[in-house]
Amino acid sequence: MDKATAVELKKCLGIILSLSTNVLYYYPPSKRTQYFMNQASNRHSVNVSGVIIGGNAPIVVQSMTNTDTADIAATVAQVQLLYESGSELVRLTVNNDAAASAIPHIVEQLDARNCQVPLIGDFHFNGHKLLSQHPACAGALAKYRINPGNVGRGKKRDQQFSEMIEIACRHDKPVRIGVNWGSLDQQLLANLLTRNANLADPLSLAAINRQAVIESALDSAAFAEEIGLPADHIVISCKMSRVPDLVEVYQTLAQKCRYALHLGLTEAGMGDPGIIASSAALAILLNQGIGDTIRVSLTPEPGATREREVKVAQQVLQSLEIRSFSPSVTACPGCGRTTSEYFQVLAQQIQQELDASMPTWKHDYPGVEAMKVAVMGCVVNGPGESKHANIGISLPGTGEQPVAPVYEDGLKTVTLKGDDIAREFIGLVKNYVKTHYASS
Ligand code: SF4
Repeated sequence: MDKATAVELKKCLGIILSLSTNVLYYYPPSKRTQYFMNQASNRHSVNVSGVIIGGNAPIVVQSMTNTDTADIAATVAQVQLLYESGSELVRLTVNNDAAASAIPHIVEQLDARNCQVPLIGDFHFNGHKLLSQHPACAGALAKYRINPGNVGRGKKRDQQFSEMIEIACRHDKPVRIGVNWGSLDQQLLANLLTRNANLADPLSLAAINRQAVIESALDSAAFAEEIGLPADHIVISCKMSRVPDLVEVYQTLAQKCRYALHLGLTEAGMGDPGIIASSAALAILLNQGIGDTIRVSLTPEPGATREREVKVAQQVLQSLEIRSFSPSVTACPGCGRTTSEYFQVLAQQIQQELDASMPTWKHDYPGVEAMKVAVMGCVVNGPGESKHANIGISLPGTGEQPVAPVYEDGLKTVTLKGDDIAREFIGLVKNYVKTHYASS
């Protein structure tokens, strides 16, 4: 086949793939869709001490500690909290000798607590020194994160980057080449800006920034492969802080390479704005089959514990029906037809009961994490929504008869009345779990 024909064929395949991807948007997102899309994306599969990123593996939730890594007790406690909240990988900063020395002890103490979560070391500036001077740290970590914008300048950059990749090869560790637009390789950016300035129709600075993060990641990954790190030991990320930039960058990355992709909005911020921005960015990309592991970078409220970012990441995956982590409660928003807070309180109680039960239920009742419970405020949507759930209750709205029909698998099973509806319904939910999810 001549080159021109090959180029045309590639274009046609691209159009077919793009059309088929667009057609999929009209179906509800589901594991089936995700599976198909992952097949289409055909990412390399990276084994991080038993947790698989990429290929057709489920999308992995990860998080990062904010303790001083040298404080072994505090770091172990926080890693355990993140792990128990559902984080499947945990990243720690390794920024100095004390942190590097602490890593093997942290791993040892986590093992003693049966907390088998792979740890990722986050290296900047001095990573080459720390990894070479602390072989026990290099061996204890499951994966290294290297930021190509922070590994040195000029000739030192390639040399220091090579040192880290060679250590990864010797220890058979995967590496994330994690570009962040806030710490972009300045030389690369300067070269692109100079080239752009000479164009008849120069691109915007934002477009050059996007181009620079992509080039930085892909050039560094290609260099790592040249040094000897296999493609299935490489994860890449290009974190941006604006949602449209992130979406555009990852759509381009997904087309340009087969490396496993770590997805996340950087510096998402605090509270609702951070959660909403992260969810918006991740949802667009995940629904297109882009992303093999995710982290939600939330700034915790002062004094707050760290696991919120894990819960948000899980909720994003669960709401897209890509993975299930915990039974969900569908509750209506309430309106003028419900003048009391009764159904809101009940919905909250049910969610708390479900969350509290999950640590044991996930072992005793496999599949329970996909269960749906409906708590509805009145007869308008109550029966319909309850029938769609595994188990649901339609509470009486203002002026309605004070009875609450309960539905299981679409059929009305009982009608509750009186002052004890909440406790009785919680009992019915627990009984549903026991009778429908008990392993044989
Ligand atoms: S189900 Fe009833 S109470 Fe709930 S929002 Fe709809 S109309 Fe209002």
